[in-house]
Amino acid sequence: MRLAPKLILALTLPICAVITVHAMWSIDAVVERMRRTAATDLHLRGRTLALAVEAMLARGDEAGARRLVDAVSAEYEQSEVRWVPGASADVPARPDHLVQVVPVHAGAQVPGHLLLSVSSATARDEVREIVVHTAVTAALLLVACGLMIALASVRLVGRPLAAVAGQVRRIADGDLTGRAAVDSDDEIGRLAEQVNAMTARLRETREALTKEAERRVAALDELRHAERLKTVGQLASGVAHELGTPLNVVAGRARMIARGQVEGKDLVESANIIVEQTQRMSKLITHLLTYARRRPSPRQKLDLAAQIDHAITLVEPLTRKARVTPRIEAGVGPFVVEGDTAQVEQVLANLLMNATQAMPDGGEVTVKLERVHEARDEETPIDFVRVSVIDQGIGMSPEVRARIFEPFFTTKDVGAGTGLGLSVAYGIVRDHGGWIDVDSAPGEGTTFRVHFPAVA
Ligand code: ADP
Repeated sequence: MRLAPKLILALTLPICAVITVHAMWSIDAVVERMRRTAATDLHLRGRTLALAVEAMLARGDEAGARRLVDAVSAEYEQSEVRWVPGASADVPARPDHLVQVVPVHAGAQVPGHLLLSVSSATARDEVREIVVHTAVTAALLLVACGLMIALASVRLVGRPLAAVAGQVRRIADGDLTGRAAVDSDDEIGRLAEQVNAMTARLRETREALTKEAERRVAALDELRHAERLKTVGQLASGVAHELGTPLNVVAGRARMIARGQVEGKDLVESANIIVEQTQRMSKLITHLLTYARRRPSPRQKLDLAAQIDHAITLVEPLTRKARVTPRIEAGVGPFVVEGDTAQVEQVLANLLMNATQAMPDGGEVTVKLERVHEARDEETPIDFVRVSVIDQGIGMSPEVRARIFEPFFTTKDVGAGTGLGLSVAYGIVRDHGGWIDVDSAPGEGTTFRVHFPAVA
């Protein structure tokens, strides 16, 4: 039930009760007053008539006295006067009548009584009239009060409360721009003021949070970029090493051509070798540059198999130098996920580099690619693409294993490790709706398993 009807009921019901009680009291009082007036009136009339009758009896005119009584009785339609002879007279019970008995004296004797009665029909009619008047007045009063209360409750309570409720609803919907338009200086006005002040504070907090979130995203981007540059730095030494062989080949062939040691078919072959080697060098550098320059991009559908190929090519200068052979083991696809190419590549490159660095004597790194139907924690199982990077390296103690995702945690020498790789990778994978888990034991190698939600 709405507030206005409740207020109307709450205020009109007591008024209604008071008016009813008042009307009943008034009616009782009027009836009593009329009864007393009628009794006095009847008594007066009886006494007056008795005096006249007594005077006539004193003169011995009993017949005249009787005629007088009959004449008076015939005078009023509603009342009756009778002569009752005898020294005593009972008051007869007459329903709906007021009855009075007045003794008539003749010296010390009482020869008879005057019996006066008046019908209460007139009084009843008057009472009915009063009741009708009171009821109509009460009804009019109730309607007027109801209207006034309805108007007041709609204007003073209903509308301001609706404005406050509207503002609260807008806040719940996340719209913090409006305000509750209430001008009154009563309790509801103060409530609206508080709600408006709260809205303003929420708006300020939200703006501050948005700015803070933007600052955090920017800081995270910087951190990821820094980690990426560290990888580039490490790869650069591998690239420099890789460039040695093709550079020697190019220099040797060029020298032979310059000295005129090759001619005809051999000359063409040397030129082709030079082209081939420069292309190889340019590819190496292009890969590295692309990786270094890549910035976060919008999410798109990615084939993880292609991303793994890419990452393996990228770290090739390093793996080759460390005599590590990456091997891909792909299950049944498709291995499509939705993600940011640069970030996914960063995760894979980091895992491959860590695996390579964990095998100082070289060996094999297996990159396993499969689709799994799994649930994380209590969630319902869904399809994930799982990339496992399995090395045969030094492994980790449980203490190291427990801290690897902490930012700046590293067991590597100063300059070799920053401790950011895995924490950045963890953040990226979590941003993509996935997770990373690890199996490792000292001397027994390490397996990193990265899960990305599969695209249907
Ligand atoms: P960084 O490589 O710069 O040290 P990471 O966050 O990538 O930073 O790695 C943190 C630590 O985790 C490494 O210092 C190393 O101790 C451990 N770690 C990571 N990958 C491996 C791995 N494949 N085998 C053994 N230890 C690893």
